[in-house]
Amino acid sequence: MYALKVENLKAYYITSLYGIERKVRAVDNVSFQVMENEILGIAGESGCGKSTLLKTLIGLIKPPLSVIGGGIYYKYNGREIDILKDINVLKELKWRVFSYVPQGSMSVLNPTRKIINTFEDVIKVHLNITNSDVIRNMVGDHFKSLGLPLEVLNSFPHQLSGGMRQRVTIALSTILKPKVIIADEATTALDVVVQRGVIQLLKRIQSEFKNTLIMVTHDMGVHANMADRIIIMYAGKLVEIGSVKDIFKNPLHPYTKYLIESLPKIGDKTLKKSVPGAPPSLLDPPSGCRFHPRCPYAMKECKEIVPDLVEVESGHKVACFLHRKEVDKT
Ligand code: SF4
Repeated sequence: MYALKVENLKAYYITSLYGIERKVRAVDNVSFQVMENEILGIAGESGCGKSTLLKTLIGLIKPPLSVIGGGIYYKYNGREIDILKDINVLKELKWRVFSYVPQGSMSVLNPTRKIINTFEDVIKVHLNITNSDVIRNMVGDHFKSLGLPLEVLNSFPHQLSGGMRQRVTIALSTILKPKVIIADEATTALDVVVQRGVIQLLKRIQSEFKNTLIMVTHDMGVHANMADRIIIMYAGKLVEIGSVKDIFKNPLHPYTKYLIESLPKIGDKTLKKSVPGAPPSLLDPPSGCRFHPRCPYAMKECKEIVPDLVEVESGHKVACFLHRKEVDKT
């Protein structure tokens, strides 16, 4: 059963300069589902639309960002809620049904308040519990279950290391046991050792609470370590989706192949291939397949027709004419 369903989502940044409207098509007709108890990775270069997609998933849609079509559905109290239509329910869903782990922990933790006070604020508002002892016990139990030291509860955020602050942010985002955790570059900007600790914490939470985890990062190594399935985004479009094995052992889209080939491997001293060229402007994206100006296999039709996302093998979908022909022949 799905925990989150996204259908034909279009989220554009719309601005107007001297009366001329400009649309940056950051998320353009994207559809996918995330199952209960699944870890879904979302990968792609900077500017591919993955962070905008996350913003829309948590209802953080403020001008100039605008959702111009599609639906985002969560399950809540046995109902299917489209957060783009049921705006009033959004507040109820936040923290309880879905929560967000941002890249910078300081945007969540109040620098002037001790960590315990931030937890108290969230619990008071969302669970209507006012007894401080009850709250402290609840937070203490949560910290113990995550293997986090209780001393940090009496610290201010600036007294903690970057890695510990990120762990605390993750603990905060899971205190109300949300069904879906959405993490945006949660391990970026951390050194490798600290990064490993944060990954282990996220994995531990997911296996303990059996919730769904959506991880956005450009780091394919993190996806290889964590994800069950991976979505590859390019220029606002979903270009490939498959199990972690599909994506790493049998990548189909030329862009995915570049992402995999650029990963360092132990003992391999050959020069890594990076994706040629630069990502396109989403203000005026290329016609047809948006990857065609960078694709070594581009054909005439690639410049004219937008390839659909087609299932090539069970659960493995790709938007590329190289594979469409194989499908058409069968
Ligand atoms: Fe390359 Fe064409 Fe496939 Fe796009 S559709 S990735 S341009 S071969």
